[in-house]
Amino acid sequence: MATTYQNFINGDWTDSQTGETAPSTNPADLSEVVGEFQKSNAADAAKAIAAAHAAKSAWGSTSGLTRGQYLLKAASYIESNAEEFAQAITREAGKAILESRGEVGRAVALLQYYGVDGSNPVGTVVPSVNPNILLYTNRAPLGVVSLITPWNFPLAIPIWKMAPALVYGNTIVLKPASTAPYVSTLIARMWAEVGLPDGVFNLVTGSGGAIGNELVSNPGVDAVSFTGSTKVGHGIAVESARNGNRYQLEMGGKNPVIVLPDADLEQAAEITVAGAMKYSGQKCTATSRAIVVGGIMEEFTNLVVDKTDALKIGPGSDEAAVIVPVIDEPSRENIKSAVEQGVKEGGNVLTGGGVPSGNGFDAGTFVEPTVITKVAPDAFVACEEIFGPVLSIIPARDYDEALQIANGVEYGLSAGVFTRNLNSALDFANRIEAGIVKINGETAGVEPQVPFGGMKSSSTGNREQGKAAIEFFTQTKTIYMDRSAT
Ligand code: NAP
Repeated sequence: MATTYQNFINGDWTDSQTGETAPSTNPADLSEVVGEFQKSNAADAAKAIAAAHAAKSAWGSTSGLTRGQYLLKAASYIESNAEEFAQAITREAGKAILESRGEVGRAVALLQYYGVDGSNPVGTVVPSVNPNILLYTNRAPLGVVSLITPWNFPLAIPIWKMAPALVYGNTIVLKPASTAPYVSTLIARMWAEVGLPDGVFNLVTGSGGAIGNELVSNPGVDAVSFTGSTKVGHGIAVESARNGNRYQLEMGGKNPVIVLPDADLEQAAEITVAGAMKYSGQKCTATSRAIVVGGIMEEFTNLVVDKTDALKIGPGSDEAAVIVPVIDEPSRENIKSAVEQGVKEGGNVLTGGGVPSGNGFDAGTFVEPTVITKVAPDAFVACEEIFGPVLSIIPARDYDEALQIANGVEYGLSAGVFTRNLNSALDFANRIEAGIVKINGETAGVEPQVPFGGMKSSSTGNREQGKAAIEFFTQTKTIYMDRSAT
């Protein structure tokens, strides 16, 4: 029988008031239940928010150095339990184990980065027109922040939100995706083990439909940091604006690469396939469009198809597998119907397009890696996020047309160009509408010490990670101290 996991509120492991739980399953074998998780309701969320609210004044008054120490201890805790975290990610989110280990390493790096940042300056002294006035700025925490996170990076995304939130003095309530809540219970265990004061970190599991509104609209909440689909994000924006709360949304992508005729085609194909197919395309920064300029189409396409066909399909626990199961059955159905739509609109499936069978594949939600050519720039598969191992190849007459196609969708998260020409590279960096730009690099894969986020419908624009995170998680105070009165 599967273990039942509880919410973590005010330092205590507690059951939901509903008395109900929901299972989370292994995408590689749907018969394997990872655990039963609390099916929380609005009252549970309100209790967690109240705990965070009660803790915010004391936590906000501690020194950044002290808060940073907790993060550094948490980094050591994850390092000591790295394989347990990695196996948990693979088992619940289906990720290839090598990538899960990479995600664990990233979580450690983020905690270390923000742990050290606790001792960095948080304001500036500015000359006043009046020599008797000490004029300086300081950063105040926002208060209680709700963190609402997706399933695809169940460790890294909660950590990249909570590390800066905590170090800059906020208390938090985390709501993970219903399809991958287990890793969040490991995060809660981590904070309990490192002795974080009660109420500073709280965890509630449950469906977004049941508790999302409370986490956004409860008067005790000061801000929301959300990562997930554009549709849900926009609903959170409307609700937050209604309540006058600060919000940060990182959402979907339809990330292009442009392949120019002077590119190293072998390298371009290798990187494009990696960007499109690793973790079965389930990254917000995954490559989903290759826009190919001029007469290299046939050579590039052949390379892409050969490299795609060479990828091993298997469960994430298989160290050689690249094409792992997608998160659940509804997701697989969406991918299948997107490919069907692509064919109806004139696309030509060169490889994949189906579901593998036998070899243990029937137990999980596997789909074949798929390459579609002859895709029109305005076709469904060229414009909508599919979130699966599907690459659309789109022809373009010249660089300007390619750029127009690349910019012609509602998203603007990540984008790349393959070229040996410095001028083309710089021009692309200037004109592409994307928050992350790669020159001869994979659209996925980012470093934690620099800002992360998208443009257009991919983001609200207030960046995460690196030095940028302080802008969202704090508010600036400007202090005028006049000593002439003393
Ligand atoms: P999702 O369906 O939007 O869910 C994200 C989170 O929002 C989950 O915790 C979900 O809970 C919750 N939620 C659902 N309805 C809600 C509501 N009405 N109010 C408040 N919260 C609600 O996204 P997903 O399927 O988990 O993740 C995939 C999406 O995330 C893709 O679009 C991907 O591009 C995007 N993503 C973006 C980034 C980035 O940094 N830009 C990174 C990773 C992923 P339930 O699970 O209970 O529904």
